[in-house]
Amino acid sequence: MSKVYQTTHVGKVRKNNEDALIFIEPETFAVADGMGGQAAGEVASQMLIDITKNFLSAVPEPWSEDILKKAILKSNAAILREARNNPNYRGMGTTATILHIYNRRAYYAHVGDSRLYRLKNKILEQMTQDHSYVENLVRRGEITAEAARVHPMKNILTQAVGAVENVSVDTASFSVEIGDIFLLCTDGLTNMVEDKKIAEILLTSENPAEKLVQAALDNGGLDNISVIVIEVDSL
Ligand code: CA
Repeated sequence: MSKVYQTTHVGKVRKNNEDALIFIEPETFAVADGMGGQAAGEVASQMLIDITKNFLSAVPEPWSEDILKKAILKSNAAILREARNNPNYRGMGTTATILHIYNRRAYYAHVGDSRLYRLKNKILEQMTQDHSYVENLVRRGEITAEAARVHPMKNILTQAVGAVENVSVDTASFSVEIGDIFLLCTDGLTNMVEDKKIAEILLTSENPAEKLVQAALDNGGLDNISVIVIEVDSL
């Protein structure tokens, strides 16, 4: 079992919170960051969460990365259909980062620029890669990671759930040890707070989720902020 801390905050600027998150006990977690006008972003992220939850509840555990990927593909088809049928929802989409921990193993599936991090032996590692325009620039060596964080085209995604028929889902699995800390979060955290500060909070704070959100708010809180922290204290 693990200690789980989760919170979502609208931020200081936006009127709506288009993020959604789930914690399916005991060890499954997801964040989704919706996009699209007129509250459509909220619809897309909530659809991802609801469809994922329903899909997984009908499948026996462990939910391998392929099963998590299927949940995202099912959501993709449904969001795309809804966006086509309802003009108010045209162009909506969402990120999706889902983590399942079972029997000393972690499985994830991921689309977009929400992130999964792992803190192990005091070192913070980003496990997912952002599907974003600026991430491609970083990978090609055209800009630095630091420049990417404040780049004006930071918000342009190269992949989103519900945007196209053939969404490509990143998946992986790896072993888990006692003491590992996982963080799932939306870009409302990572655009506002540097990795170094995130690691410091995860290592020192009694309520890391609240502290991370506070740090994002202190730095401007320009976007919705969602955070799930999982401290693995037994397996
Ligand atoms: Ca966001």
